[in-house]
Amino acid sequence: MKYYIINTGYFYADGGVMFGAIPKAAWKKRYDAGDANDCRLVMRSLLVLADDGRVILVDAGVGTKQLKKLASYKFSGLLDLRQGLLQLGVKAEAVTDVVLTHLHFDHCGSVTLKDEETGELSLSFPHARHWVSRAQWENFLSPHPLEKDSYFLEDMMPVEEAGLLQLVEADCEMGSSGVSLRLYDGHTPGQLVPYIAAPDKTVVFPGDVVPLAAHCSPAWISAYDTSPLISYHEKIRLLEEAVDKGQQLIFCHDAYTPQTFIRRAGKYYSLYGNF
Ligand SMILES: [Zn+2]
Repeated sequence: MKYYIINTGYFYADGGVMFGAIPKAAWKKRYDAGDANDCRLVMRSLLVLADDGRVILVDAGVGTKQLKKLASYKFSGLLDLRQGLLQLGVKAEAVTDVVLTHLHFDHCGSVTLKDEETGELSLSFPHARHWVSRAQWENFLSPHPLEKDSYFLEDMMPVEEAGLLQLVEADCEMGSSGVSLRLYDGHTPGQLVPYIAAPDKTVVFPGDVVPLAAHCSPAWISAYDTSPLISYHEKIRLLEEAVDKGQQLIFCHDAYTPQTFIRRAGKYYSLYGNF
């Protein structure tokens, strides 16, 4: 089994939103921001080449369909994900599985493509099963008004119409690939967190359960989280296991710290290794 971390591009988010109730005087020491409070974030994907032959992509960045509507996020350095995979020797048609941690636009946008002239939508990974939790799918179809702006139907409806949507009800294994999927709530209902059994360690892709290294402090919770009180407990559940089992975390949005291990440090967690 091999895995590759792929940078699909950057955007900016307001630091006050990223760190919720935490004062700027505190978060500014842990994450860089410009004069306008803007934090540079990355959108990471993961490609897993499993021993059983599966080619698994985790998350897919923002894509290009809604960039005009999302101009305020100042997206830059966007990777054509199909080209990015090709550079790693993988054709888009060879991807067997796409795991979407959740369906916010910065995680699933490039799952579908739009012909600019005809408006026709097509699938980027036409032979892949697309794994989404049932809770997240139901939330996507009828979101709370406060979360609605994070979803675009055109990102995912072609997947469902093609019969390629694999709804996940509970924690599960992806066959004999060595990848298992677990459910976490808080940021949004039913986030999928992939656990990848690499030869020498387990690698975890927490998505927006722990988007930045600075969010390893349990009380540091983004104002984007729809259920922050739940996020607190879910995050501790994930981090405690990561400490106990020596799991490596990959941060999907941290522009400065791609991956790290963690250890307990009093009430908090500190980072070590592989920054
Ligand atoms: Zn996100």
